[in-house]
Amino acid sequence: MTIDGNIRVRFAPSPTGMLHIGGARTAIYNWAFARAMGGTFVLRIEDTDPERSTEENTQIILRAMRWLGLDWDEGPEVGGDFGPYFQMQRMPTYQAALEVLKEKGAAYPCFCSKEQLDAERKRAEAEEGGYAGYGGTCRALPAAEAAARIEAGEPHVWRLKVPEGHGPIEFDDAVYGRTSFPADVMDDLVLVRTDGSPTYNFAVVCDDANMGITHVIRGDDHLSNTPRQILIYEALGFDVPTFAHLPRILGPDGKKLSKRHGATNVEDYRDRGYLPDAMVNFLALLGWSLDGETTIIPPDELCRAFSLARITKKDSIFDETKLDWMDGVYIRDMAPEKWFLEAAPWIAQAKADALGVEPGANVQPAAEPGGAQEGAGAPRVPGAGVDGETWQGCLADVEDRKAHFMQVHPLVAERMARFDEIPGKLEYLFWGPNVRIDGKSFKKVLAKEGSRAGEALQLCRGVLADDGVAWEAEALQEQCRALGEEAGIKPRNLFQPLRVAVCGNMVSPPLFESIVLMSRDDVLARIDSVLGLDVA
Ligand code: GLU
Repeated sequence: MTIDGNIRVRFAPSPTGMLHIGGARTAIYNWAFARAMGGTFVLRIEDTDPERSTEENTQIILRAMRWLGLDWDEGPEVGGDFGPYFQMQRMPTYQAALEVLKEKGAAYPCFCSKEQLDAERKRAEAEEGGYAGYGGTCRALPAAEAAARIEAGEPHVWRLKVPEGHGPIEFDDAVYGRTSFPADVMDDLVLVRTDGSPTYNFAVVCDDANMGITHVIRGDDHLSNTPRQILIYEALGFDVPTFAHLPRILGPDGKKLSKRHGATNVEDYRDRGYLPDAMVNFLALLGWSLDGETTIIPPDELCRAFSLARITKKDSIFDETKLDWMDGVYIRDMAPEKWFLEAAPWIAQAKADALGVEPGANVQPAAEPGGAQEGAGAPRVPGAGVDGETWQGCLADVEDRKAHFMQVHPLVAERMARFDEIPGKLEYLFWGPNVRIDGKSFKKVLAKEGSRAGEALQLCRGVLADDGVAWEAEALQEQCRALGEEAGIKPRNLFQPLRVAVCGNMVSPPLFESIVLMSRDDVLARIDSVLGLDVA
């Protein structure tokens, strides 16, 4: 069924947990398909499991969708003509649909107790080598008897009366192609439980039909539900939508992506400093491609180009190295101003981290180059672990010096995969006259026998102290290089000691561009305190 010929799709999460990678990909495909087709993207919350659904999870899902930029045309908070968009508020519609089926004789009450059903299952497993589903005990009950038992208050469920002699249930899946299930192995599935609540299959069909959904795009873990749902559509007399079942997302070990593989929840990626656009691009390519080659497809392009025809049947591997690479591409492409907006809290975190640096020059025991950010750690949210007042101070300072920090973009963007690398990379900007030196860099560069590191530092210090030389990266570098050459010190042996003395490690952002972002006094003070150490 189409309403005004419009494509209508929906994302229908159950708020029993956060928004996971797989769910996010399903949401992205529905959203991008709606946008590409000029259709409508509906968000529906499937909250019928009272024990596991929470309002908090709903909020987390909405927040994650907003963060990804997946705006919905109808659904919670935005409303729409087909609401309500929470299943718990749609109970009367399921009741009405059940009435339709009752009237048609397409549903019947079943009084079999759990014990009876369990016994039937056990017997079938023992005698027939397997349980083929509900045997239909109550299907044949005379209507008058069924009515009397209901009247007497006997607990019962409502089952779909699967038509006898129904041929195979067939549909053209937009991904898997022609798909066929034999109908004679379908037992009479439960539509409404003893407590009056609809089962997933019943509610989803009622909603999809009543909301005019034309395409059901969802994970292939639902493939086995589809023939059952088709039977319900048929019984209700509704058109069957087009189905598109998405292949699975696997971890690098080839097993279904799960918590074992680390973060699987979308907001963990936000907290680790990934960009939402990179995330959407990356997830979109887990099962879809533009042309089999293009890897950078920003969301607006995705919304133009997305098609169901290019969804693959093949499972995809979630490769975080590729995600890091992709995020790096997006970071490099950001306009400095936009970069600053994203980077500000992370830069403030660098400042907060710098507050812990002891006065003078401190050599750290064998820390990794690049600071503590290297390697996977627990997600780190900027400001966590910093007291409120200090944090506000750091953030305000960074935000006040926007033009200054925008200059940092070209220095770090080239080699950055994620925003959470910023604190480790930029802490040195906030050390003032002090410096925290990575132990390995100290050993390899400053303390290395025969390296003439002390001499190199003295030489550079002279240039940096000379107010006759402009405080500009190129001028300072050239002057140092020239004097180094005269003294017979190679540029590398000249600049590495300076880098370690000023920035604390061997892998900092470009040296002189960094130096000019700091004050002359601070830079000289750092060199002086390092010269007070045991330098070669
Ligand atoms: N609430 C279901 C889920 O989260 C939706 C399934 C569907 O799209 O039909 O798995």
